Amino acid sequence: MVRPLRVAVVGSGPSGMYAASELVSDGQAEVDVFDRLPVPFGLVRYGVAPDHFSIRSIRDTLDRIWDQPGIRFIGNVTVGTDVQVAELREAYDAVILTYGASADRLLGIPGESLTGCVGATDFVAWYCGHPDANRDFFESYLPTVSHAAVIGLGNVAVDVARILAKTAEELHATDMPVHVRKTLAAMALTDIHILGRRGPAHATWTTKELRELGELENCAMEVDPIGLESEAAWSTDQRVATRNVEVVRSWMDRPASSGRKLHLHFLTRPIAVAGTNQVSMVQVERTAFTQSGGLASTGEVLDLPVEFLVRSIGYRGTGLPGVAFNDDSGTVVQNEGRIEPGLYAAGWIKRGPSGIIGTNKKDASETVATLLADVQAGGLPTSTNEIDELLSSRNLEAVTIAGWRAIDRAERELGTQFGIDRMTISDRASMIEISTLG
Ligand SMILES: Cc1cc2nc3c(=O)[nH]c(=O)nc-3n(C[C@H](O)[C@H](O)[C@H](O)COP(=O)(O)OP(=O)(O)OC[C@H]3O[C@@H](n4cnc5c(N)ncnc54)[C@H](O)[C@@H]3O)c2cc1C
Repeated sequence: MVRPLRVAVVGSGPSGMYAASELVSDGQAEVDVFDRLPVPFGLVRYGVAPDHFSIRSIRDTLDRIWDQPGIRFIGNVTVGTDVQVAELREAYDAVILTYGASADRLLGIPGESLTGCVGATDFVAWYCGHPDANRDFFESYLPTVSHAAVIGLGNVAVDVARILAKTAEELHATDMPVHVRKTLAAMALTDIHILGRRGPAHATWTTKELRELGELENCAMEVDPIGLESEAAWSTDQRVATRNVEVVRSWMDRPASSGRKLHLHFLTRPIAVAGTNQVSMVQVERTAFTQSGGLASTGEVLDLPVEFLVRSIGYRGTGLPGVAFNDDSGTVVQNEGRIEPGLYAAGWIKRGPSGIIGTNKKDASETVATLLADVQAGGLPTSTNEIDELLSSRNLEAVTIAGWRAIDRAERELGTQFGIDRMTISDRASMIEISTLG
């Protein structure tokens, strides 16, 4: 009898889960899904905003994939450190890299390394309860902050600003850990700025996310009108652009109110971060559209007092030893998902940080089709090693599906103590300990 194909998937975010599901669906393959974390689902757990309940519930859909026969979870194992890609390639017929793009892009301006200037990756990871988040920093620093700024005009920037702006009551039903709630509630925040070098029509945020900013309980929108005029002229999608500009304009007619203020600035580019030891100010320059729709400096410079500055200008992937990588794009070098026969990629590490969660399904399908075509063509090397022996020889505390289910149960039980559906357990040692009960 022909044995099933043995495939390793590196990363249990949506792209890894969709690829694994498709491969095991008709019994043609057995798949081991590796993740460096003890829990699965990548950015659906550690990126998607905790107050976006319906999108976060995609976790439940992904979770059902574990019920398919032929699939295993090997969590808490980092590929590139605990086990190498080359070793996986010996142990499996094929390896699919789906490890995402978790590094953030830098602004490249002076002062960026001052304390208080962080990447959205770090702040989002912290408020989602990521085990590797820098808890000490955020918990001691944030309560000292009264003015914050977020750089970028995408949905992640909007998420960051909204989470900062919301009251403890508005965040109550989320699965944020207690330390995150307490820290956010202890912030004496008065002003949050969103800074974008272009205008609202060029923003990559969706109208739905944008509208939410105008619905906050204790936070009023303050729009800097510069950039609203002639804006739609430079837009590629007139319909969306017009809608976004309309939403922004509607906030300008509102009467002033008390509470926090969320300031929107367009045509504003950060040029320096200043402060002694920690951020106290971001210096920004006004930009203007040129006749051809490009951006030019105006020379007009403003100083904004801020103690917390979040860069939200994109995520990028990093390379793994022995895997062809393009440093400029921050993605692996591939064609239709094939890096080379036997080694494939899907999701953000394949195409960069773009699209919605569902985009990863189509993307994973393309990769699986390429892999299966290589199998058909007889172009795959065959595996020789037993992965279980290799892993046990390294004394790794790998987490299985049963282990993940135990963590999942514990999070739901913890949630009931707070009158919510679930509370994220963020401590890695606790997660590992709970996983052994599974
Ligand atoms: C802040 C934020 C909010 C978002 N909100 C939305 C939203 O509301 N709606 C929407 O549709 N999309 C949203 N997205 C996009 C969505 O999350 C991505 O499209 C999707 O998660 C990408 O899937 P992926 O599997 O390629 O990567 P990821 O989800 O990043 O998964 C990668 C996995 O690989 C693991 N990994 C990394 N390195 C290793 C290693 N060396 N060894 C083993 N495992 C490793 C990681 O732990 C992770 O589990 C958001 C993204 C971010 C950053």
